[in-house]
Amino acid sequence: METWRRIIADSITTAEELAECLNIDPVPLAQLVRRYPLRITRRYLELIEEPGDPIWRQCVPDPLEMVDEQLPDPLDEERLSPVPGLIHRYPDRVVWLVSNECAVYCRFCMRKRRVGCRLAGNGGGVWDDAIHYIATTPTIRDVILSGGDPLLLDDECLETILARLRAIPHVEMIRIGTRTPVTLPERITSRLCRMLKRYHPLYINTHFNHPREITPLAAKACARLADSGIPLGNQTVLLAGVNDNPTVMMLLMQRLLAIRVRPYYLHQMDLVRGTGHFRTKVATGLEIMGALRGFTSGMAIPYFVIDAAGGKGKIPLLPDAVERRGNSLLLRNYCGETVEYEDL
Ligand SMILES: *Cc1c(COP(=O)(O)O)cnc(C)c1O
Ligand code: SF4
Repeated sequence: METWRRIIADSITTAEELAECLNIDPVPLAQLVRRYPLRITRRYLELIEEPGDPIWRQCVPDPLEMVDEQLPDPLDEERLSPVPGLIHRYPDRVVWLVSNECAVYCRFCMRKRRVGCRLAGNGGGVWDDAIHYIATTPTIRDVILSGGDPLLLDDECLETILARLRAIPHVEMIRIGTRTPVTLPERITSRLCRMLKRYHPLYINTHFNHPREITPLAAKACARLADSGIPLGNQTVLLAGVNDNPTVMMLLMQRLLAIRVRPYYLHQMDLVRGTGHFRTKVATGLEIMGALRGFTSGMAIPYFVIDAAGGKGKIPLLPDAVERRGNSLLLRNYCGETVEYEDL
């Protein structure tokens, strides 16, 4: 068995094990774990320093997950799905959910409704339908592999998918969204990298939410991918009690650049059932954006986006910096000073 498979097999998946590791009451945990799956790799669990800290909040079930005010699928991903596993929302790109498994089940996951569940007929016929749809829809030039975590598939499965996509002439690029550099850096083997680099142009977006997740092993995993010529981006979710302050966020963004990962999106929490306790006000995100812009490298600044309900797409938000005064614009710089700009 490959090392990373052994690490998964050895991870914590039951309320009893977790309660014992953390020295907490297993009874309320058990009910939560029946509702939403639990998995934490031992190494990720070791990043916890104290109860309720940013790592704890991301991976340890919270009774607030049972508060059911929101919809399971507010972005209408199931409705935008032409064949099982594909989400086709934008004209030229498609998200393909190739795995329902992750190394760590994040408590804030936007796909809480499906992660950790068995995929109906994984592989085989379901993949044929997705490939057929992509191959017969010539507007699709960008395919985003997501899940779950695509890198929880083994190398052979993943290579089959990549090879079949590469054989479609109008698929210009492939992206993989994966949290394994954070939660299972051992997955980024040199064998995997040798395989991946045969399928360029290939982009990877990973998912760091807190500076403490940037461990030496995570940095090494990212270096391996970058050395294989894969441009790395990062998608962060703005999470209450995890990273909802400008100091933490600036440090995270700077440290990401230092490991050759370019911040891409900062996501406002989606209104997904069971995740309401992670939501912040939009003003918090805007305040963070205001504290980054101008104060640190422009490359460290992600787009702050809200994924609009009903599958209407991602909408970027910025703190107000422009005011129209007749024919001229009043522009506000990062320090709050204003300059006038004569528009055409
Ligand atoms: C986010 C997303 C994409 C990719 O959007 P980009 O802005 O190109 O990164 C594509 N399809 C769906 C359904 C998405 O949610
Ligand atoms: S790794 Fe991604 S898909 Fe998996 S549980 Fe975390 S947020 Fe959800």
